[in-house]
Amino acid sequence: MSNLNELFAEIRNEFPALTQTVHGKRLSYLDSAATTLKPKVVIDRITKFYTNEVSNVHRGAHYLADIATQAFEGARHKIANFIGAEQFEEIIFVRGTTEGVNFVANTWGLTNLKAGDEILITEMEHHGNIVPWQMIAEKVGAKVVAAGILDNGEIDMDDFKNKLSSKTKMVAFTACSNVLGTNTDVAGMTKLAHAVGAKVLVDGAQIVSQFKVDVKALDVDFFVFSSHKLFGPFGFGVVYGKRAILDSMPPYQGGGSMISKVTIEKTTYNDVPTRFEAGTPHVEGAIGTAAAIEFLENIGFDKIHAYEMDLLKYATEKLLEIPDLKIYGMANDKGPTISFNLKGAHHSDVGQILDQEGVAVRAGHHCTQPLMARLGIPGTVRASFSVYNNRQDVDALVKAVVKARELLL
Ligand code: PMP
Repeated sequence: MSNLNELFAEIRNEFPALTQTVHGKRLSYLDSAATTLKPKVVIDRITKFYTNEVSNVHRGAHYLADIATQAFEGARHKIANFIGAEQFEEIIFVRGTTEGVNFVANTWGLTNLKAGDEILITEMEHHGNIVPWQMIAEKVGAKVVAAGILDNGEIDMDDFKNKLSSKTKMVAFTACSNVLGTNTDVAGMTKLAHAVGAKVLVDGAQIVSQFKVDVKALDVDFFVFSSHKLFGPFGFGVVYGKRAILDSMPPYQGGGSMISKVTIEKTTYNDVPTRFEAGTPHVEGAIGTAAAIEFLENIGFDKIHAYEMDLLKYATEKLLEIPDLKIYGMANDKGPTISFNLKGAHHSDVGQILDQEGVAVRAGHHCTQPLMARLGIPGTVRASFSVYNNRQDVDALVKAVVKARELLL
């Protein structure tokens, strides 16, 4: 572990945001499930694009446009390789996980779902993987159904199996809960969904920074994630879709780039992926994401996982020593995220006290109101860990929670 600690101490130095103090205190940034901080290599890569390479892509017949286009399309190849896609055309650029789900719901969903069909989700989905399905369901007369969760935060697989039927046309679930930390059995659930003929969309927002994802091996039909939770820029995300399914889907938005030929009477559309990418894209988003992936791959997911699991274990043990503290989500397979409450204290009050101590957490419903209803609480305090955190951050968290308990209970 000491080698790992040394390595991650160096990695911590690559995040300029961590050099500042907050309310006069050392910053313990424990909100990576909301967004990760950005390493210098990503910031520098975006600066380089804006400084030297700045140009629109695909359309210019000049040097800078070529450089920008190469970097932009190079990012598509890098991302395809990163998640194990077979072809780079299977990578569609969007604004983030939320737009990714909306994109699939409004293209695949609108063409393939009909009255009486069911979309199976789970009780622990983020609103971004609930509301788009409800909106499409309402349009076509389909129904959204949710599999329950067990008290330890794992999906109730009996309920999941019971709710799968010939009516199920889409199964959309998260690979990792942003609240409970639960990692789900993506391959297993996908197999069960395919057995009833349903397509599968996986919300990868919380998993891509933890594990090497292999969409081909998992056999998922769609996989979506946001770059900003992966050390990359805001406003950029990815939809992976199996080529044959993407080829069968109608366009998403109309405009430049997505066309093959336009006349006043009629437009024919481009092939995938450009068919789905109308207008000037988020060029530095793609380029910055490629830099973020390189950053992660240079560290190695095996090391990241070992380090984060050690922090998770340490933090869980330390927090559980605090009287009146309850942790929500104790799944066997967990990401580096801990949701908790102090019995009798409001999560927002705890969050505020932690902030004053320089400990950045999130307090609220985390865009998972159905999960909060299932847990019977309005919200939680959530501490989430990443490559730049260390035991000092955990100790600061524990000390601040002890202080909050003294002040609030
Ligand atoms: N799903 C999960 C599991 C998430 O954690 C988030 C972000 N909190 C989203 C979806 C939505 O991601 P974004 O806001 O980047 O679109």
